[in-house]
Amino acid sequence: MKIISEKCEGCLSCVDVCPVRAISQKNGKIVINKNECIGCGCCASSCPNDAIEYE
Ligand code: SF4
Ligand code: SF4
Repeated sequence: MKIISEKCEGCLSCVDVCPVRAISQKNGKIVINKNECIGCGCCASSCPNDAIEYE
């Protein structure tokens, strides 16, 4: 998964929804820990701005 940072408004809904807590906010930016991500897609579904895409 990757964050399209220009589209992200920092609502943190993806951070809350991730079942394995692979998403966090660092220095105002949303980051996905790719080693922890299981590719469930919940973050992308939860994003109101379509700022998360599969890669
Ligand atoms: S795809 Fe699933 S596991 Fe990966 S960051 Fe998004 S919510 Fe978390
Ligand atoms: S859900 Fe979308 S807009 Fe909200 S913090 Fe995550 S990437 Fe940004």
